[in-house]
Formats: sequence, C-alpha cells, structure tokens
Amino acid sequence: MNSIRTPKRRLITSALPYANGPIHVGHMAGAYLPADIYVRYLRSAGEEVVWVCGSDEHGAAITLRAKKDGITPKEIVDRYHNEMQGAFKGLDISFDHYSRTSSEKHHKVAQDFFLKLLENKSFEVKTEEQYFDQEADQFLADRYITGSCPKCQAEGAYGDQCEKCGSTLSPRELINPKSTLSGSKPVLKPTTLWYLPMGRHEGWLREYIEKGVLNGELHHDAKKWKSHVVGQCKSWIDGGLQSRAMTRDLKWGVPVPVEGAEGKVLYVWLDAPLGYITSTMEWAEKNGQDWRKWWQDPETELMHFIGKDNIVFHCIIFPILLKEHGDFNLPHQVPANEFMNLEGDKISTSRNWAVWVSEFLENNPESSDPMRYVLTSIMPEQKDSEFTWNDYRDRINNELADVLGNFVNRVLVLTRKYYEGAVPAILEGQKLTEVDTSLINELESASEKIGDLILRFRFREAQLEAMNIARKGNKYLTEEEPWKLQKTDPARVEVIMHLACQVVGNLGVLLEPFLPRTAEKISISFGVSGSKWNDASPSLVKPGTILGDLPILFSKVDEETVGAEIAKLGDNDTDKKLNIMPQKEQTTFDNFTSMDLRVATVTECIPVEKTKKLLQLTVDTGLDIRTVVSGIAEHFSPEEVIGRKVVLLVNLAPRNIRGVESQGMVLMATTDDGKLRFITPEEGVNAGDVIS
Ligand SMILES: [Zn+2]
Repeated sequence: MNSIRTPKRRLITSALPYANGPIHVGHMAGAYLPADIYVRYLRSAGEEVVWVCGSDEHGAAITLRAKKDGITPKEIVDRYHNEMQGAFKGLDISFDHYSRTSSEKHHKVAQDFFLKLLENKSFEVKTEEQYFDQEADQFLADRYITGSCPKCQAEGAYGDQCEKCGSTLSPRELINPKSTLSGSKPVLKPTTLWYLPMGRHEGWLREYIEKGVLNGELHHDAKKWKSHVVGQCKSWIDGGLQSRAMTRDLKWGVPVPVEGAEGKVLYVWLDAPLGYITSTMEWAEKNGQDWRKWWQDPETELMHFIGKDNIVFHCIIFPILLKEHGDFNLPHQVPANEFMNLEGDKISTSRNWAVWVSEFLENNPESSDPMRYVLTSIMPEQKDSEFTWNDYRDRINNELADVLGNFVNRVLVLTRKYYEGAVPAILEGQKLTEVDTSLINELESASEKIGDLILRFRFREAQLEAMNIARKGNKYLTEEEPWKLQKTDPARVEVIMHLACQVVGNLGVLLEPFLPRTAEKISISFGVSGSKWNDASPSLVKPGTILGDLPILFSKVDEETVGAEIAKLGDNDTDKKLNIMPQKEQTTFDNFTSMDLRVATVTECIPVEKTKKLLQLTVDTGLDIRTVVSGIAEHFSPEEVIGRKVVLLVNLAPRNIRGVESQGMVLMATTDDGKLRFITPEEGVNAGDVIS
C-alpha cells in the first residue's frame, strides 16, 4: 500500500452557518477561528491553500422562522447572510470566498449533482404515506411536526428528533402528532421520496473511517483524526445505517430536477455541503483558476472544519454522496471541535444565552483580537469547554495587557530612550551570556514548534507557545535590568536591547495567525511587515531600524463591562418574568453611608457623539453644576430628560466615558419589561436634598 504524500495544496472548508440567527462565540470557536488560524499559518508558510464557506439558506427551520416573523424565507436569509458576514469580518475571519446556497449558481450545481447520482442509480425511489396538513396544504417533514416521543414519552418531540432524550425519530413514530403550522391533526397521504440507501455503503465506510483506506489504497492517516470524530462515526455505523430521504415536500429549497417532482426540494443536508463546491467554483472564476484542481486532483487535500453536531454529515453522508458521484475527492481530515458552553450553561439562541459576535464588537470595537485570544485559549478541541466573562477579563488583563502589551511597550520606550528609536546591533567581540544564548535558541526553534502544533490542530497550545515567547522576553528584560547598566556597561545594554527587539519582531510574525491586528501593528512598528513564517529568526529585525509609533495594544477590562455582559445573558422577552435579580450579598451600614446620594435637577441634555446608548446630562446638585454621562439614550430622548429631578450618586470617582468626564451616576430602576425608568422624588423634594 502506498504511503501518504504531503499534499500539494489544501482545500479548507468551514461549516456553512445556518442563516436563521446571528453568529455567537460558540460557532466561532467551533468551525471558524480554528480554520482561520490554520489557514493564516499555511498562507504565511507559503503553502497553496484555499478556504471557502457560505450561508446555508434552505431547510424547514428557515421557513418556520419566516412564518413566525411574518416575512418571507428570502428576507430571513438575506438578513442573516449579511449579519453573519459582518460577524466574520469583525473577527477577521479571512475566508477566500463566502457564498450562499440560495444563489442561482448553487441551485444549478446541486441539481446537476443530484442528476448524476440519479444516473448512477444511487437512490431508491419510494412512494409512501407521509403526514399532510390539510389546512396549510403541505406535507410535514422534520420540524413541521411535533408530538410525544415514543422512546421517552416527552411532549414536543420533533419529526426528526426528540430533544429531550436525543433519539433520532421519523414523523410516523410520534404519538399524537400535531402540525406546527396550523396546530391541526395531520392526515396520511402518499408522496414520492428519493432515499439514499446508506446501508449499501457500510463496508467501505468502515475501512475509510477506521483505517483511512479507500478503494484499497491508503487515503489518509486515520490515526491523525480526532478520537471523538472516529468514535462518533463508528457508533453510527455500528448502529446500522438507515436509508435517509434526500428530498422533502417543501416550497423553499433547491427544486428536485425531475419531471413530476413539482413541490419537492432537495434535503438541506444534501444541498448544504455541495455549497463548498459552489463556493470553490465562484472563487476559482474570480481568480482565473480551474476549480476542478481543488476538488478532483488527488494531490489536493480536502479538510472540513466543523462542530461536533455535524460529524456524521461530513464523515458519512457527504462522503457517500461524493463517492457515488465519482468525480470528487473525499475528505482527508475532519478536525471537528466539541462545544463551548457559557457561564455554566449550554449556549442557546432561543433563550438568548449567548455572546453575539456582532453585538459584542459593536460595543467593543477594539476587542477583535482579545476575543480571538480568549476563544483560542479555551477552544473545545478535545472536550467541551466553558466561556465566562470573569475568565475573559483575567486573560485580557493578566496575559494580553500585563505580559504582551507591557513587554512590547517597554522595549519600544527603552529603545527610544537609549538609541533614539534605532535598533542597536550586537558589537563584534561582545560576549553572550547563557541567558542570551537560551533566548536566541528559543527564537531559533519557535516558528517550527508553533507551526507543528497548528498542523496538528492543537491551537490552544500553539497560541500558548507564541505567548511564551513574549513571557520569556518580558522575563529577560526584567531580570537583565538594562536600566541599571546603561551608565556602567552600555555595550551590554546594546546586547540586551538588540535581543529584546528581536523577540518583539518575531512576535509580529508568530502571533499573526492568532492576533492578526496586534501582529500587524507590531510588524509595522518594528520594521518587519511582509515577513513570512519562515523569516522568523533571531536576526529578523535589522539593526538600525527606526521603531515606529505603536498605540497601547490592549486596554484592561473593568468590572462594569463584565457585570453588564453577564446581565445581558438570558435577557429576552419570553423568560423575563423568571429573571428576577437575586438579592445581592450583605453589605454594611458604613458601606451604605459612604455613598453620597442626592436629588439633582437636569438642566441640559445632549447625545454623546458616535454612541447609541449614551446621553450627556448637565445637572444641578445643589452643591454645583456638573456633567454626568448616562446609558439611557435607547430609553429616553434628551427632551424627555431635561427638567427632571433625578437621584444622583454624587461622590462616585469621576470616569472618562467616550471622551466625556462623568462626575456621578444617575440611579435608574429596571422594570420587568427590561426598560429603564427614572426614580422620581415626591413633590416638595428639591435639588441638593440628601437621601439617607
Ligand atoms: Zn424522547
């Protein structure tokens, strides 16, 4: 049997996100951020790679959502196609091409593929009785039908799955079935469906999954697949592969291109992965390339980044479809991640238990790299992980700001102070200490070490290694204390500063896959922009380079931000009533009396520029006239605020909020519909009156 060659080029895909809701951090950590790190590394290392993705815009869940919102499926997918692209752009997810499955081009690609499978006799056509909603005039597949679970008796099980016990179901198994469209009891009516008889494929699938063998040849190194991926596939195959319908009686989707199949569309799990092919075709057309090279040349490696909920589709169903077609490569690697939980609970779109990427970046426009950093630090590579806002704050403050930001800044400041910003050289004959040599050796081996971890999908460790370079540089500077030697041994200080500059320059290259914006800033300042992965070395930065300006790389995250983010979780209309804030921890009388609360009158009010949430209030406290910034602009217009009496915490330390110094805080009540309201004093209470 032949051995596995190093691939000539790689085609990378990330799971097509489903266009019926915004992107959250769990999605990012599952299929997009790991692929982005992987692809950025390959590009920097000069490898041939293309990375495609796109929006998955078909399926019953989208039509149901449209129905609920009273708009068309097209409006739903347009909205989320844009939202998702914005979220990816915001987090610097660097797809080569992003497509969508509702496009004409994709419909054609999917229909041609289906016809080829039809020609190859890959389907079994069966006419059988299916549930039909007479009021809605529609067959009820998957999520259109609910009832009690035949396995665990739970109510509200769907036609394809019981979410309570996890069983895979078919609509006919449900007890007391009900249409989710009209609520009526459905009737049985015959319809024709195209089934993929998966049982036929069990033999070769086992070889492919367990041994990495395809058509009697070694196809990929099965030992390099993640054990949870192989485990899930094996248990599916062991459970017996059932035939699966590849068409649905629905109006929204890719029409089945067969005469007499009006009102039928391709099953979304047939059409969605073909979106990878469409996306590659579009990319190739744009770049004057032949797409076939990327899907049909055996020297191209095909790799799917996904979350664990998509494993069987990418490792079993899609490979069957590709093999049945005959012209395409099969996946060589599927590095699926597990799930990321959030603050002690599963991420849930319907309960609004999520960190929405677009919303987060809108409120924290400089936090793209910090968010990438935290998500990579806790990436669920081998098992589920958990995101918490306290951990987010600690990692930014203690790692990015205190170690990386602080180190880079110190090197810049000292180089400017001692050498007017020009990187010093190590003079001929200058002796290096053991510590110097050890640092040089670190830089010598760093790129290979980090690259190797990335290629093995160990992104957490890879980022840790890259950060360790900064840690070692920081420690070196702290222990060598150049500021103590500058007067007595300037030649020694030149060695120290030369090496410190080399460490920073290398960070500009080695951090790029993880923190692209930070790496770019460092690279520009230290004169190494355009450097590639293999340029990283102890002599990367040229002596004499004049260091450019560098803004503060990371600002610290305060308690208020953490508190506000946690408070947003689960904050939606449906469970608002259940969401009464528990009593806070006990406080003391002294703590309370340390707060100076007074009644104040608002005399002026204007919006704070370039913000949506903030108003700038001028208030008369009885003591003085002062300025207070308040986050109430979404609840009140300035006109509604002027003239009001408010309760003000007057001795709160002044804070600079978006360029305005706020001297105090207006107290507001949050009512159970989520609105903010003023606490209005009784008649006769005046500005300056003390509250105690
Ligand atoms: Zn059940």
